[in-house]
Amino acid sequence: MTDENLDKKSAQHKKRMQSIKEKVDQRIDNAQEERGLIIVITGNGKGKSTSGFGTIARAVGHGLNAAVVQYIKGTWACGERTLLENAGVSFEVMGTGFTWNTQDKEQDIAAAQKVWQRSKELLKDNNIDVILFDELTYMLSYKYIDLDEVLDALKNRPINQHVIITGRGCHRSIIELADTVSEVQSVKHAFDNGVKAQKGIDW
Ligand code: ATP
Ligand code: MG
Repeated sequence: MTDENLDKKSAQHKKRMQSIKEKVDQRIDNAQEERGLIIVITGNGKGKSTSGFGTIARAVGHGLNAAVVQYIKGTWACGERTLLENAGVSFEVMGTGFTWNTQDKEQDIAAAQKVWQRSKELLKDNNIDVILFDELTYMLSYKYIDLDEVLDALKNRPINQHVIITGRGCHRSIIELADTVSEVQSVKHAFDNGVKAQKGIDW
């Protein structure tokens, strides 16, 4: 390319960037509202809970008060719990009951209800800035927790409180209420090729 052509390309690039910057600046100027958000991370791909925990880590890094409620008890302790508890994040984990392995519906419902009662307290607590409800969507799919009660508690939470909800198949009314919704799509997953869950990556 000749010098003249290079100069022309560079000028075109600069103009394009300037135009993008103006549009972005305009959108930033337009977004002036400050309030708590409801964020939903749903879909079949990997990355929902890790996104939720990543946001909790981000919030804690800014000195915000965060809480995590885990609606499905894994068979192993996840790494983020150890780290975040040490950073002062409160954890509420379904002690007994629901895992993919249990087949005792009554026990699962009781366990879900117990954790939901604690969740409701958090949703009234002005001192909690961010809450992650990890895998909450399943409790609604199975009707272990009443959808209207959840919608009510979310709507009446402190104005500046952020809530993150993760899990597959999020109910449409939660999606409608939410401010930001991402659906993680699975393109491929190592597990399908026989690779077992890896410490530090999958749990
Ligand atoms: P992560 O906790 O890694 O962000 P996730 O929250 O998106 O995953 P879940 O449905 O909660 O996904 O499942 C948690 C576990 O299942 C993780 O070990 C994850 O790697 C694995 N997993 C997630 N998506 C898939 C998939 N599409 N196929 C197989 N395994 C998956
Ligand atoms: Mg998950």
